[in-house]
Amino acid sequence: MLENNVRDTVILGSGCSGLTAAIYAARSNLKPLVLEGHEPGGQLSITTLVENFPGWPEGIQGPELIENMKKQATRFGAELRMGHLDGIDLSERPFKLQVGKETIRTRTLIIASGASARWLNLPSEQALIGYGVSSCATCDGFFFSGKEIAVIGGGDSAMEEALFLTRFASKVTLINRSESFRASKIMLERAVAHPKIKFLSNTLVEEVIGVEEKEVKALRLKNRKSSEECTLPVSAMFLGIGHEPNARAFTGLLDLDQDGYILTKNHVETTLRGEILSGVFACGDIQDRRFRQAITAAGSGCMAALEVERYLEEHGQ
Ligand code: NAP
Repeated sequence: MLENNVRDTVILGSGCSGLTAAIYAARSNLKPLVLEGHEPGGQLSITTLVENFPGWPEGIQGPELIENMKKQATRFGAELRMGHLDGIDLSERPFKLQVGKETIRTRTLIIASGASARWLNLPSEQALIGYGVSSCATCDGFFFSGKEIAVIGGGDSAMEEALFLTRFASKVTLINRSESFRASKIMLERAVAHPKIKFLSNTLVEEVIGVEEKEVKALRLKNRKSSEECTLPVSAMFLGIGHEPNARAFTGLLDLDQDGYILTKNHVETTLRGEILSGVFACGDIQDRRFRQAITAAGSGCMAALEVERYLEEHGQ
């Protein structure tokens, strides 16, 4: 509802959680404004086949799933707009968002700007995302049954991905750029003990081979100590080098954990100095470092929208 140009709710982010929040808020006639940031559609828009989202027995392409969610949200009255957030003021109500020259005022805010997987940022890696380069073992591991694959990283994420991928792969080579590992002792020991996992330390990926064929064929590697180069034939490369929550804009405005994820209480309520900041909700990967699945992001987006409805009922629209 637009009354005195104050919106009932604005949703930051158009990934799975933001769009689910938009569908619920739109169906409650709240006419949500969804601001799409620098990665419209979120992480689903850069994956290929999604086979674990309930309701799609044959699987669905990530971008198509996102497109469907957008259509569903707009059908009920959600407004989607590209926009870079230049400023946020949560100190007064209605809240104020600065998007370019425009000031948007809103009674409630749903933050669903997600987390971005870290990449090596090699041109060959970027060209092969979705063609054997992936940041999500749960999503894409299944496609490499019986194949040799590589996992990059030396933390718990990399160990977890490598262990998960042993279900499908004939061999997993874990490539760590450092001598030592950041992973917890228990995870590291589990990976070391696994017969399918081999370790390469002090090793950098210089190039992913297979750009012309549009399919990962091998990795060109370099030993950091000896500078020796070699080629490792693999059918896939999984990145396990961490995620960056897209929450930098909220530093000082909301409580964040030590890695910059938004802290929430009661699933989706945000806090400032430990106190609930009513009317501001966070959902999806920006507040979830544990599950990070499309379906869990969608679930928390639904919760955020229901909380917005409840808040507006209590505080008057
Ligand atoms: P992390 O602990 O920060 O480890 C990141 C790893 O990626 C490090 O080995 C780092 O190498 C490497 N790395 C970073 N940038 C790189 C680059 N550009 N090229 C090559 N390697 C790069 O991140 P995480 O593993 O995602 O874990 C984050 C947090 O979540 C941790 O607290 C972890 O315990 C937790 N977590 C827990 C579980 C679990 O308990 N099941 C699972 C996943 C995550 P360097 O060491 O050389 O910097």
